[in-house]
Amino acid sequence: MNLSVLRADLEEFAEAISREEYLTRAGLKAESRAAAVREQFAVLGSRDAFEEVHDKAQGESGAEEARRLRYLAEFLGTTCIEYRARVLNDRLATAEATQTVEADGRQIPLRSVETRIKNEGDRARRAALEASCLSAVAEMNGLRQEILETGHEEASRLGFPGYTAPCRELSGIDLTALRDLTQPILSRSQDMYREVLAWYLTRWVGAPPHEARRHDLVRLFRAPELDRLMPPDALREAAEAPIRRMGIDPAAAGRIRVDDEPRPAKMPRAFVATLRIPDEIILVVRPGGGPDDYAAYLHELGHALHFAYTDSGLPVEYRRLGDSSVSEAFAFLQDGQLRERGWLKRFAGVGQPADVLRFTAFHKLWFLRRYAAKLDYELFLHAEGPGARSWDAYRDLLSAATLVEWPAELYLADTDPFFYAARYLRAWIFEAQLRNLLRERFDEEWYRNDRIGPFLLSLWRQGQRHTIEELAADLGLGPPAIEPLLAQIAADLA
Ligand SMILES: [Zn+2]
Repeated sequence: MNLSVLRADLEEFAEAISREEYLTRAGLKAESRAAAVREQFAVLGSRDAFEEVHDKAQGESGAEEARRLRYLAEFLGTTCIEYRARVLNDRLATAEATQTVEADGRQIPLRSVETRIKNEGDRARRAALEASCLSAVAEMNGLRQEILETGHEEASRLGFPGYTAPCRELSGIDLTALRDLTQPILSRSQDMYREVLAWYLTRWVGAPPHEARRHDLVRLFRAPELDRLMPPDALREAAEAPIRRMGIDPAAAGRIRVDDEPRPAKMPRAFVATLRIPDEIILVVRPGGGPDDYAAYLHELGHALHFAYTDSGLPVEYRRLGDSSVSEAFAFLQDGQLRERGWLKRFAGVGQPADVLRFTAFHKLWFLRRYAAKLDYELFLHAEGPGARSWDAYRDLLSAATLVEWPAELYLADTDPFFYAARYLRAWIFEAQLRNLLRERFDEEWYRNDRIGPFLLSLWRQGQRHTIEELAADLGLGPPAIEPLLAQIAADLA
């Protein structure tokens, strides 16, 4: 096999698939044709290509080439699994983009329901919306089950004992050790979380804490009480002004484009489409109002900046592949600005930031608890397979983590391929340690220090060449630990 041809194919394939995903997820077209793109690059989804590169990676003695081959082998292994499920995945993407549900006597797109729930103050109406949303999701569970089982079968064909094994081996992430590291987040933050949750549910949502449901949390995190402090039309400037203050162009000389049009079939969850790295990045958000919009915009801006300032001379493996925790960490560093008192005052014009700080710390804690539970659950799901036991495990673990009655219907929809939850958890741990370092090295208001721009650019420039653990070691952050993360949240909630 010719590796340089493979690398050139990878570059072309990544662009084509990102373009296709952008169009369907942004609500610009209904029918997903990603399978056709995968077929056009069928060699990247072949077992032969994976096996050859996987073997080569293990035999390679040069450190740099071995690293590139490892990243390539991970990409080929996951692409192989996705290739087998390509037609099913297209059917699911199309169904998600076109599915409608009944609300107030008329049909609305499934993808609009979450925004409706957020903005619905009446509890009974919210419950009705949630019920129709969950039954639409449940209808697609058969298809999701088929996709999951296809993935499990392909992992076995690649010679691995189950689905978790290739995810662990190819990524180099010890998923069980990460679960053991992050499970104590749940017990150690339980009292603090319970208390603050009850406060918000009672005062903001009018829901008795012992009866609270998922839709009450969706409403809670919409936080209309904070709208006055965080108006939608001030968002772009609040996010971009501090970047300019660092001496960095937030549009990266036109390499970053923002798509914030509120199309009905656009996914509620914001994302970044990386058509070409570093030259063509689209930041896609669906404004729904409130501090959530600020967090989503800042987060995706963090990704966009990282990709748009990645060195264009790096090999494709370091621009496209590698450890996604690295990009997630830079994204968290941006949305984490909502937990910086001085940033809120200076750039978002929030005179008394205490309410915002408390709210964003609580939101973050909720995410952390949810993802700690998700990693635990996904390890169970991929060992057990879909069915009643996983259905129950999902509901029990997520209910225990969020302390609201969590709907089991989401047990397949609320999972990410290849244990992406692990990338988030590692990134949160790193980001909290990095934030401590930034405060020490660049002052409490580190984002206003003249040296911060060059420092961040030097990190972004490397793309995802290094793993998050390597970056942590380079920066002298010490081994991964949950203490800085929990301490920062506790300080903001106090
Ligand atoms: Zn992200």
